[in-house]
Amino acid sequence: MIEKPSFWLSQIDFSLNPSLEGEENCDFAIVGGGFTGIATSYFLKKLEPSSKVIVVEQKYVGYGASGRNAGFCMTLFGLNLSLTVLRYGKKNALEAYKYTSEGIDIVKNLVEEHKIDCDFEYNGFIRVATSKLYERRLKKEFELAVNLGIEDAKWLTKDELEQKVISPAMRCGWYERHCALLNPAKLVRGMKEVVEKMGVKIYENNPSIEVERRNDGKFIIRSEKGRIIADKIVFATNAFSISIPQLKNKQTPVFTHIVLTEPLGEEHFQKINWRGREGLEDSRNLIHYFRLTKDNRLLMGGRDVTITFGENMQKDINQKTFEGLKRDIKFIFPQLSDLKIDYMWGGPVSVTLDLVPAIGYVGDKNAIYSLGCIGHGVSLSHINGLTIAELLLERKSKRTEMFFINRFIIPFPPEPLRFVISHIIKGAMKIQDAIYDRI
Ligand SMILES: Cc1cc2nc3c(=O)[nH]c(=O)nc-3n(C[C@H](O)[C@H](O)[C@H](O)COP(=O)(O)OP(=O)(O)OC[C@H]3O[C@@H](n4cnc5c(N)ncnc54)[C@H](O)[C@@H]3O)c2cc1C
Repeated sequence: MIEKPSFWLSQIDFSLNPSLEGEENCDFAIVGGGFTGIATSYFLKKLEPSSKVIVVEQKYVGYGASGRNAGFCMTLFGLNLSLTVLRYGKKNALEAYKYTSEGIDIVKNLVEEHKIDCDFEYNGFIRVATSKLYERRLKKEFELAVNLGIEDAKWLTKDELEQKVISPAMRCGWYERHCALLNPAKLVRGMKEVVEKMGVKIYENNPSIEVERRNDGKFIIRSEKGRIIADKIVFATNAFSISIPQLKNKQTPVFTHIVLTEPLGEEHFQKINWRGREGLEDSRNLIHYFRLTKDNRLLMGGRDVTITFGENMQKDINQKTFEGLKRDIKFIFPQLSDLKIDYMWGGPVSVTLDLVPAIGYVGDKNAIYSLGCIGHGVSLSHINGLTIAELLLERKSKRTEMFFINRFIIPFPPEPLRFVISHIIKGAMKIQDAIYDRI
């Protein structure tokens, strides 16, 4: 029985590829079969068709965040625009926006070119404010976007917002056209088939238990019954990087949670008028994100996050957060209060101490990692796949020159300090949210 920790995964049938037995040699080994690992393998084969590429995945392609996320394919980079401006300046923040915008185009093109059936809907995105203080915050962030020159940003008054969606809790919004919604598990499993047809070898149920560097510079990636000898390696392990000694202190796993209702009927649609089916987020630090699925269920996620201790990656279930999310549906859409919850799940996102994503090297340029996408990694991980492929093949592009490539990462301290610091940061965010929720 395959463990399927999300609604999306539970809806599709697949069997697992065999794990590796014996020895394999390749040009590029990729540890981790999520969006990042699979996209990297795709672009390596696209740019260098004769290269030998192997992906090793501890469970199965899509088991991590890629098979569990909410499916917003969006321009957000890191936590928000103002934080990127604060940390890296306006020019870089605009570059980051263009980068993730290109990421959306990449996903759209992949879906179209390879006819991947992943319920792709190019519906746009609205960030809403649900109190006066959030309205002030949202307006500031919107003005920053306009000031940076982001043209795809339109302010929505309460009346204008109500033309798109009706909620007594929402005061105003910021609309972006460039955002798609999709079924992430179907996308990542669909891309698995695409890359396998291109010649990428994928071993599932195959945790890499040790990575070692030989004297000749090659990497040995050991798993239980086999090993791979590779010229270059990619750690596409995202939040699971907590168990990789070389990456342990660069990020921390944080779990975010989702509830999903039964399908809405026409009477519900009449009450909320959400005909454009845009993706929605609110303006909290610990955001709520909500959308409709292809079969018209309401997905509501966020509100709080679960912090792990040590290498514990079993924090998918948090009843308190699930109960809170059910109450949040009633607050945002009281018209939908009668809807039953059919599914609840959670998954790990990777968070750096400064909340900004990173691609970097381990030792030299032959070993690359990608992490820190926070909850905004669908478009980002796909374009990161292209960037990592270009870096591995030593092909310079505007992507390989981005400011977050090989940037300094503020290290997390070891446990128990990591746990304490993570709770302090989360606690500060929650206190501010509690105040903003009320005023
Ligand atoms: C609940 C939730 C909602 C989200 N919603 C959104 C959203 O709406 N929009 C958005 O943009 N982003 C969202 N995200 C974030 C987004 O899902 C991630 O940023 C993105 O999927 C990261 O992809 P990845 O390939 O880097 O990581 P992952 O998908 O986590 O893949 C890492 C893979 O590495 C494997 N692995 C780990 N260690 C080993 C090992 N030793 N050997 C072999 N394999 C290993 C894991 O099993 C896993 O499959 C959400 C995340 C979650 C959890």
